[in-house]
Amino acid sequence: MHTFEPAFPSANACLSRLQMKSKGLAAICRNIRIIPNAGISTARICLRGRAVSMEISPSFWDGLSEDDRTFVLAHEAFHVALGHINRGKGYPQQVMNVAADAVTNDWLLHELDLKTSPQLQSQMVTMDSVGLESGSALSMEHVMSLLQFTACTEALRGSIWARAAQPSAWNMSCRSCSSPPARRP
Ligand SMILES: [Zn+2]
Repeated sequence: MHTFEPAFPSANACLSRLQMKSKGLAAICRNIRIIPNAGISTARICLRGRAVSMEISPSFWDGLSEDDRTFVLAHEAFHVALGHINRGKGYPQQVMNVAADAVTNDWLLHELDLKTSPQLQSQMVTMDSVGLESGSALSMEHVMSLLQFTACTEALRGSIWARAAQPSAWNMSCRSCSSPPARRP
């Protein structure tokens, strides 16, 4: 029995799809609360104390195809599976967000071979979009260090942050609910 709120009954079909690709990610989705939140633009993982939940904007969800909804659920579940929020503590919020999303999307696209619409994919932060090689299996910490110190020129960073800061962009901001809102340059 999962804990989806009535606002997302359509998630059940997506979970069946995800189950075919990854039983582990589907199990995570079934074991955390998934809550509608009209106050966010896309989706995020929330950490309150030791309780993890997934929040999804209803308007964002309504505009997605079933493939894209499945990808969103898998994306957030992957953050939970790898403990990205806890591992990112102490790092600049925007660096953590971009690194976590690049690692996550790269794995979902290239290892799990999840399908998404070209529109959604064009808005994603990926390893390619931060100047790193797809399929390189870098850790989030490694990507964060590269983003901060070596791999990215200031100009490249600017384009990454500009993309991530677009209000309509699908960037999967993931942060602890107790953290102040991220401010991207
Ligand atoms: Zn994310």
